[in-house]
Amino acid sequence: MRGREFTMKDAYSFHATEKCMEEYYKKMQGAYARIFKNLELKNVLHVTSDNGTMGGRDSREYMCISDNGMDDIAICGCGLAWNAEVLPANTKECPACKKPIKIERANELGHIYCLCQRYSKPLNLTFINESGKQQLIEMATFGIGVDRIVVSIIEQHHDDRGIKWPENIAPYKYNIITLNMDDENLVKQSQKLYDEMLARGESVLWDDRNLSAGVKLKDSDLIGIPNKIVISNKGVSHEKR
Ligand SMILES: [Zn+2]
Repeated sequence: MRGREFTMKDAYSFHATEKCMEEYYKKMQGAYARIFKNLELKNVLHVTSDNGTMGGRDSREYMCISDNGMDDIAICGCGLAWNAEVLPANTKECPACKKPIKIERANELGHIYCLCQRYSKPLNLTFINESGKQQLIEMATFGIGVDRIVVSIIEQHHDDRGIKWPENIAPYKYNIITLNMDDENLVKQSQKLYDEMLARGESVLWDDRNLSAGVKLKDSDLIGIPNKIVISNKGVSHEKR
């Protein structure tokens, strides 16, 4: 589940007041929810986690339920969820509502924390406030494990022919496949469609290799392009994977 590489999208925010930090933190939670939605990732839970080595408070992980995940999460029907590490061993009920909790394996996709003054204090990171006094800056941090997201997307979007990339993350949205590159008419027709789509700003690949139809159709599925536009003597056909 975890690759040898670890690419992280990291963001830090700096605020004059705790209230401002909290408002921004909420906005970022909304942004993260939209990111996972746009990536067509299902079963992403927002779980309370350990503060780990980063310190601060209100530490939340974004966990994607997966049998191949590396973490255990505890989920309650009331909507709360935790990284199992933060609950005392053998906890069987929800600390909030006392209903039974369920343990699931999960893949950690992201992590956000209110750092508050955890780093500004030791670094003496201050600003001059409205009343001319030095004041510590409030901080928050927001991370996404980019490779982990790719793993979860592939896990949720594939079939025996290959990866089925969601449109927002696919290398190309469309693949124009010209069935016979020796047919001048088909090549002309394909070129025209390709140029038109490019001009419209579409994300499109034209497979103009002089290879058999079978190879080109297979390669398109293997790369995981969501839409095939096949140009043959029978006309133009569109197939969505
Ligand atoms: Zn509960």
